[in-house]
Amino acid sequence: MADYARPVQVLVDELGRLPGVGPKSAQRIAFYLLKAAPEDANRLARAISDAKLKVTWCRQCFNIAEGELCAICLDEQRDAQVLCVVEEPRDIVALERTRELRGRYHVLLGAISPIEGITPEHLKIKELLARIRDEDVQEVVLATNPNIEGEATAMYLARLLKPLGIQVTRIASGLPVGGDLEYADEVTLGRAIEGRREVEG
Ligand SMILES: [Zn+2]
Repeated sequence: MADYARPVQVLVDELGRLPGVGPKSAQRIAFYLLKAAPEDANRLARAISDAKLKVTWCRQCFNIAEGELCAICLDEQRDAQVLCVVEEPRDIVALERTRELRGRYHVLLGAISPIEGITPEHLKIKELLARIRDEDVQEVVLATNPNIEGEATAMYLARLLKPLGIQVTRIASGLPVGGDLEYADEVTLGRAIEGRREVEG
């Protein structure tokens, strides 16, 4: 596949760097875009550059935001006593769909993974501790993924947070083990939040 015109090859290469897009898909998307009406292709290009330009990380919880703070941190109706810890901003979207939590969130931007060299220092844990110190947090809900990295992260945080005298809970099982929160259906995820349990210290 080295015989494409240069701009086509660049497009295929860039698409192929996206997560979950293999070489075949990259070619298919590239040719779809080449065949598409100019305004359709330009709309996609604009959506990407707009998102990169306008979207930043919330300085409080590390969710995606359009300003300094995300919509959830700005929402005064939220229960400031409940803080739900997740790995990625997309997990917030999944949890919000369940409508079970009325608290706020804290995004770690990853999970502990010795294999990938991700240690607690790489995650937003220092920031989490600062929030617990400065805000009126009574319960921390550990909603990391039900896989090895997520469980390791939840255990690490539980050991760190229990001595602070706050309630530390973990979302219940019932979620597919090894899975990702974002792929769980709303009912399963809703039950997992409802059935959250205090973590043993
Ligand atoms: Zn926020």
